[in-house]
Amino acid sequence: MQRGVTFKTDEWFIENSFPGVRRCKTDAFRIQKKILSGKTKYQEYLIFESPGFGKILALDRIIQLSQSDEFIYHEMIAHVPLLTHSDPKRFLVVGGGDGGVLRESVKHPLKELYMVDIDKEVVAMARKYLPFISNGAFNDSRVNLLFANGKTFIKEHKNYFDCIVIDSTDPVGPGKALFEASFYRDVAKSLTKDGVAIFQLGPFLDFNLIIKGTAKKLKRFFRYVNLERLAMPSYSCGCEYCFILASKTVDPTKLSVSVIRGRARKRLGSKLDALKYYTPEVHHASLVMPKLWQL
Ligand code: SAM
Repeated sequence: MQRGVTFKTDEWFIENSFPGVRRCKTDAFRIQKKILSGKTKYQEYLIFESPGFGKILALDRIIQLSQSDEFIYHEMIAHVPLLTHSDPKRFLVVGGGDGGVLRESVKHPLKELYMVDIDKEVVAMARKYLPFISNGAFNDSRVNLLFANGKTFIKEHKNYFDCIVIDSTDPVGPGKALFEASFYRDVAKSLTKDGVAIFQLGPFLDFNLIIKGTAKKLKRFFRYVNLERLAMPSYSCGCEYCFILASKTVDPTKLSVSVIRGRARKRLGSKLDALKYYTPEVHHASLVMPKLWQL
């Protein structure tokens, strides 16, 4: 707790886990101020302010983002797959209701961007109460915003996207469908030949419980399946967090720092210097796993 700070309430937010998964630890965040709470057709929501973390969005009592470190997550889930592709033009984010993935991806010279979130109300509340997350990206003329189940949408777009980001909730509620093998198969079909997908997954604490099995499922449909690691203090136990990159033809580990830097400089220009976590060196290093987490 911060010294010298007094709080009006002694209320804490205890993070949920999804059934059968988190078993040994949990996270608690002090609630300084409640901003909004309620229930949409699909999920429960809460926006509150917490000392140290700033504004926090939780869905079904699971943290989706905190103001203090969301840029780490959003920069790493957008720029790594986009810069792994040699020339992406069509981009899709499934989920991503807060707009953070869009904020980062509109920085690229893409032709078409689609965002498909199941829950209109999450998007509306994020735009109103957390506008710094999307930072105007929803108004970009290349963006097509759709409200639908990502699972259905992706089946209708075969061989179309160069880059797909799965920025979903956890495998509980509406997000459950996005962790099934049949969805991974449909993502593979929806990607162009040299397309690259990235899936948000979970903390490395769950390497044996979740990560290894998910990678195995993905390997049925993609030749290259690679873990990416990043620091996410506000997520599960604050330990290192895992995304999975998947492609039918592109091995992301074969890209040198200088190739990544060349692409990043050409596509992002001076916007590259304004990023707060991502650098070409961090990109390259994020794909290197300690022995314990090698697939
Ligand atoms: N960064 C977050 C995390 O790590 O959990 C994800 C943030 S974003 C708010 C998650 C979004 O996924 C939510 O807006 C939710 O409505 C959406 N979502 C969940 N299931 C979905 C589905 N089947 N199709 C499309 N969007 C879905």
